[in-house]
Amino acid sequence: MKTIIVVGNGMVGYKFCEKFVSREESEQFRLIVFGEEPRPAYDRVHLSEFFESQDAKALELAPLNWYSENGIELLVNERVTDIHRKTKTITTSRDQEIGYDYLVLATGSVPFVPPINGVEKEGVFVYRTIEDLEAMLAYAEKVKSVKPNGKAAILGGGLLGLEAGKAVMDMGLEPHVVEYAPKLMPRQLDSRSSNVLQLTLEAMGINIHLGKATNRILGNGAITGMDFGEDDTLNVDMLVISAGIRPRDELAKTCDLEVGIRGGIVVNDKMQTSDPDIYAIGEVALYNQMIYGLVAPGYEMAEVAVNRILEKEVVMQHDIDMSTKLKLIGVDVASFGIPYMPAEKGLSIIYENKTKGVYKRINVSHDGKTLLGGIMVGDAEDYSILHQMYLNNMPLPDNAEELIVGARGEGGSPFGSAMDLPDTAVICSCEAVTKGAVCCSVLDEGNETVKAVAKATKATTGCGGCKPMVSDLVKESLKTLGKTVKERICEHFDFSRQELFDIVKLRGIADFDELIDTVGKGHGCEVCKPAVAAIFASIYNETANKQNAIQDTNDRYLANIQRNGTYSVVPRVAGGEITPKQLMAMGRIAQKYDLYTKITGGQRIDMFGAKLHELPLIWEELIKEGFETGQAYGKSLRTVKSCVGSTWCRYGMDESVSFAVEIEHRYKGIRSPHKFKGGVSGCIRECAEARGKDFGFIAVEGGWNVYVGGNGGANPKHAVLLAEKVDKATAIKYVDRFIMFYIKTALPLQRTAPWLEKLEGGITYLQNVVINDSLGICDELDAEMQALVDSYKCEWKEAVETPEIRERYTHFVNSDETDETIEFVSLREQKMPKEWA
Ligand SMILES: Cc1cc2nc3c(=O)[nH]c(=O)nc-3n(C[C@H](O)[C@H](O)[C@H](O)COP(=O)(O)OP(=O)(O)OC[C@H]3O[C@@H](n4cnc5c(N)ncnc54)[C@H](O)[C@@H]3O)c2cc1C
Ligand code: SF4
Ligand code: SF4
Repeated sequence: MKTIIVVGNGMVGYKFCEKFVSREESEQFRLIVFGEEPRPAYDRVHLSEFFESQDAKALELAPLNWYSENGIELLVNERVTDIHRKTKTITTSRDQEIGYDYLVLATGSVPFVPPINGVEKEGVFVYRTIEDLEAMLAYAEKVKSVKPNGKAAILGGGLLGLEAGKAVMDMGLEPHVVEYAPKLMPRQLDSRSSNVLQLTLEAMGINIHLGKATNRILGNGAITGMDFGEDDTLNVDMLVISAGIRPRDELAKTCDLEVGIRGGIVVNDKMQTSDPDIYAIGEVALYNQMIYGLVAPGYEMAEVAVNRILEKEVVMQHDIDMSTKLKLIGVDVASFGIPYMPAEKGLSIIYENKTKGVYKRINVSHDGKTLLGGIMVGDAEDYSILHQMYLNNMPLPDNAEELIVGARGEGGSPFGSAMDLPDTAVICSCEAVTKGAVCCSVLDEGNETVKAVAKATKATTGCGGCKPMVSDLVKESLKTLGKTVKERICEHFDFSRQELFDIVKLRGIADFDELIDTVGKGHGCEVCKPAVAAIFASIYNETANKQNAIQDTNDRYLANIQRNGTYSVVPRVAGGEITPKQLMAMGRIAQKYDLYTKITGGQRIDMFGAKLHELPLIWEELIKEGFETGQAYGKSLRTVKSCVGSTWCRYGMDESVSFAVEIEHRYKGIRSPHKFKGGVSGCIRECAEARGKDFGFIAVEGGWNVYVGGNGGANPKHAVLLAEKVDKATAIKYVDRFIMFYIKTALPLQRTAPWLEKLEGGITYLQNVVINDSLGICDELDAEMQALVDSYKCEWKEAVETPEIRERYTHFVNSDETDETIEFVSLREQKMPKEWA
């Protein structure tokens, strides 16, 4: 019997074992594994989840008994100290000497700690193992016990650095990410996407310092700060170093295996080192002169090594896909292929919306036919399909820009279905699972959930980046079987939004933690938290001030963050009607706070350029003048636009302004799955563009025509006729029911147009529900709407009058650094944000 010794029981070492024992021939081998860490292999990719769960077992890739059951001799807490190539033996830290026929080095890497003066001080950590995290948690507690507002810095603004930034923030410390390069995630992002990401992270409370070289760690024994030279310092109580990795090739060096100039054990495409009986896989292996700091290439290396030892002709592919998607942090960031490149290599199409924190870039070949790569920040919903198009070299549509401008929830995706991909398309690169295998698992093996498919095929069990695509494929495959598919809100709740709405209502739950403890699992995410916040709001008419932590970023501060990090202030101007006195008050306040003013498309006045701590001051003055919040930041009613109607216009059939004012006051403050808008036109000339709104009224001979399901934006949709020539009270009644029905049944972030489009039976069905009461729910819908109308509160009034809520704004006054970076220039006698460099 031949002996294989695996050195290292990390992610790739484990994968080697798993793949090896799945092969029949493995019975002819003795497999011995040494792991230096005190526990069996765990999921390092999801290491940050340990901060929440503090449950090391939950991260285990397999329990200890799995190894013995599969005939593997695993020795944890035992380091291999030497390799004796001549005798083909190894020695260990427990003085064992064992012979091998094949040796597999899967020793991974360690975090690179730059040789900065003072780096050895207490309070400086790296971020690689469960023990590192335990030490960080204990130290953070110590810091907080003496300094409740303690700060922690992360050295390195790469993928892991940002993950660490979010982790220290969740630990209750003020996070500061310090990056040497002038941009974040320098390997994956261009400068513009880095700017957008920076703004979003800062709005979340993660401070970013770019272009900073750390000269010295300050402090007497324990860290108290970082010195960047030229009197530039940052006071911090803790530091996490995340400045890259170094392969653990020390064993290879001492036994004279070939290593790279900058480290890493040199391997060929069979994963053999310079000694053909010694293999190296994972983050220690230098393949194509590169160390790949990702699991997917490591898993492929494990597959190749297993095959070669079993004498199968398999080699490592030459081009390694380095696409990545940032996880956990609360903002979507992804890059694939060539993320950015000079113009001579191809053409780029860029969509940027700093107000929403969205940046998307795709790079295409000069003939416009091939996707070369791309970047997505703030909205990576289409990452999986773009990534697949890139991997499978799929032809691009004629209007390639459509691939990135179709905003989420505003009319559906411009892509075909995931089913259009070829069967050979590799969906899960970590586990090399193809689209065909996923579909077969559903269609032929009866696995009807993502979980079941994951168990059967292993898809999604690596980095998890392919989950949305696998979920689409499961859904589409089930549809072909004529089965309905449950639209789960996210992995924390096994319910659709509609089911969750009913649960909250029936059980009277009004607290997120209670809801997740009762019917969910884990701690929630950026998808379920705001969705549940909106459900609470729709049922209890709770303002966004309550349960602040589960609100969308803009809702947390009751303001939209603008592209230079300042905020906008938009009071309600119902129906676009405003008195000269109100105009003057607004002018005075805008002048006092030096705000840029502009009339918006929704017929109100937007005041831009307010700093966070100024927001309560400005609103206090506006409220004194009789204004109230316009909720321009919320997923709620925005405006009801009106033309001047019969009051002034000679064509007017009825009074559109009064109607618009009444209806705007009726629906103000109502939160919904997405924003919604209304319009009222005095005649069919349609000056108020009511048919471009979620609901619209147009005066005609004999009454009002009622339209629903329209929108402007990236995918304009004309609203469709719900009822004809009805009186005002009836028109309002129908729209009340339409809005309530939408609020209760739409998906998160689905606007009324795509909701109506997907409603089986379309407008006829809707007419039956809200006019003919086919479901017998009209009384309920009416009562629910009336309750919302009756319980309206201006959330800005609540904020300025409640000291604890005001605190949220004053808290940021101490972060002067953010404010100093805000630069304005003068244009047409007003101030404007300075152009981004
Ligand atoms: C916080 C974090 C987040 C990450 N996120 C992602 C991600 O989103 N996507 C992604 O693709 N990758 C991610 N990675 C990287 C990924 O975890 C690594 O690529 C993967 O763990 C590499 O596996 P490995 O087995 O080569 O090395 P490791 O997992 O480091 O395992 C090596 C093991 O060998 C042991 N060892 C070393 N020397 C010896 C010896 N002489 N004797 C015995 N044992 C020894 C080590 O103690 C270690 O347990 C992340 C990493 C971290 C730290
Ligand atoms: S159309 Fe709207 S989102 Fe686009 S730039 Fe103008 S204001 Fe911004
Ligand atoms: S929609 Fe008709 S009533 Fe209103 S302003 Fe235009 S023409 Fe006049």
